[in-house]
Amino acid sequence: MFEGLTANLKDALTGLAKGGKLTEGNIRDGLRQVRQALLEADVNYEIATSFIDRVTEQAVGEKVLKAVRPDEQIIGIVHQELINLMGPVEPGFDFKKSGITVIMMCGLQGSGKTTTCGKLARLLKEQGRKPMLVAADLQRPAAIEQLKVIAGQVEVPVHAEAPDGNNAVKVCQNGLSQAKKLGNVDTVILDTAGRLHIDEDLMKELEQIERKLQPDQVIFACDAMTGQDAVNSAKAFNEALELDGVILTKLDGDTRGGAALSVKEVTGVPIKFIGVGEALDRLETFHPDRMAGRILG
Ligand code: GDP
Repeated sequence: MFEGLTANLKDALTGLAKGGKLTEGNIRDGLRQVRQALLEADVNYEIATSFIDRVTEQAVGEKVLKAVRPDEQIIGIVHQELINLMGPVEPGFDFKKSGITVIMMCGLQGSGKTTTCGKLARLLKEQGRKPMLVAADLQRPAAIEQLKVIAGQVEVPVHAEAPDGNNAVKVCQNGLSQAKKLGNVDTVILDTAGRLHIDEDLMKELEQIERKLQPDQVIFACDAMTGQDAVNSAKAFNEALELDGVILTKLDGDTRGGAALSVKEVTGVPIKFIGVGEALDRLETFHPDRMAGRILG
């Protein structure tokens, strides 16, 4: 994870220690290199620039310049600013005190949305809740079958209908009625449609689901492998839907870091969990401090 970024940041930051006493000029040069490393990792341009401005402001202060190991102080500042950029920790959901909490999962096709629905159901079940899945991704017929298989694996009920003649809003409404009928369901997770690219029809469908179902949480599955593309999608989904959180998927892959470092700042909503593998138990709470530590190596 983040190998290129970590190596480039190390280069930039250890370079600072080599010159003996640090001057303001050395620090500014080193931090320009840090900014370059962030841009190469596909971090959003404005975010990389304002990040470096914040770090520079603190790093060229008297306290750092007069410190015994100013390089260590600067690494500490970068670490803290990375945490601020990705945090805070906000892993849980606001569950209704009584009745059924509805979680709407959205994202582009292939982002890991359906898998993440299963992972969430598994996790919530482990926490003592009683989740149910609803197969409302009617765009990709295989998604319905996939969700049924996943529901079987995590042993939770699933509501699925044949895609023909149905619309997604109706499937969600029927799913919620079914959950009420079952009586022992307290959380419904809606697996909604994704497309390869955002388009008007997709957004209209999702907006309708949001309007009619009034989900308590709208969560965006953000493919960490796709860098700024994922972040731009997150922004568009957030404008249409008012997201409550993001789950970063595929962080076990060869990701450059851009999505992880930009998505919270761009959307203003917290990263709640990270997907770190295809298996249904590969979902972890997001800890910005640990992630910052991994990024710095
Ligand atoms: P959807 O089209 O958004 O519903 O995407 P899927 O849930 O079908 O996932 C697309 C692919 O990504 C599948 O092969 C999943 O196994 C894989 N996938 C999902 N989450 C993760 C993850 O956290 N790590 C890895 N390595 N693969 C994942």
